[in-house]
Amino acid sequence: MMTFDIVTLFPALFDSFANESIVARAQQEGRIRFRYHNPRMGARDKHHTVDDRPYGGGAGMLMKIDPLVRTLKKIKKFKRSRTILLSPSGTQFTQRKAARLSRRYDQIILICGRYEGVDARITNYIDEEISVGPYVLNGGEVAAMAVVESVFRLLPGVLGNSESIREETWTSGTTKKYPQYTRPEVFDGHRVPKVLLSGDHARIAAWRTKRGGILSPKGA
Ligand code: SAH
Repeated sequence: MMTFDIVTLFPALFDSFANESIVARAQQEGRIRFRYHNPRMGARDKHHTVDDRPYGGGAGMLMKIDPLVRTLKKIKKFKRSRTILLSPSGTQFTQRKAARLSRRYDQIILICGRYEGVDARITNYIDEEISVGPYVLNGGEVAAMAVVESVFRLLPGVLGNSESIREETWTSGTTKKYPQYTRPEVFDGHRVPKVLLSGDHARIAAWRTKRGGILSPKGA
């Protein structure tokens, strides 16, 4: 069972994400669970303030460190636990990283930033910073969902057919999956490659190897 502890000011963003499709099923089957922790609950003042102006000036607001750390400390840590801050300047997230997280941990704590980001002292309370890509989102929630989705589907039993995981794009190092087709055989004049209709498994396998590709090793 993998526990995802999500630290977010906007837990409702996860409502449909967590309650549809395979994510919902994986919870019902007891393979994963979600817990949400709102730093607003860790704010001690009467307005439950979670943001403040940056020292030294500059645009926008930062997430305050004290409500965040108070929130983190309330999360009971498992032995195999990883605390991750979602950050556009973090280490680029990859399939290999997803696989490692799914194998090594029972608990993944995901801290979603908002505003201009988080007071830098947060680095004393996390294991790593992960970026889902070289662009800036408005908050860490969508990034956290990307991490959850790529990790949970690799857990044993989550996807019915584990073959589909082994043959995927990005999975064996830097490969990309061969193109696939389903019915109809001809659509709008576009035909399915003949070899796939041949029933000749050796030829099909050879074609697939050829049509799979090499992706930039950086992402592996
Ligand atoms: N001012 C910051 C950006 C803040 S964006 C900067 O210039 O770096 C607000 C929050 O969104 C961040 O704290 C982070 O949690 C999340 N976020 C934005 N882009 C992200 C990305 N590419 N990967 C992961 N998290 C991201």
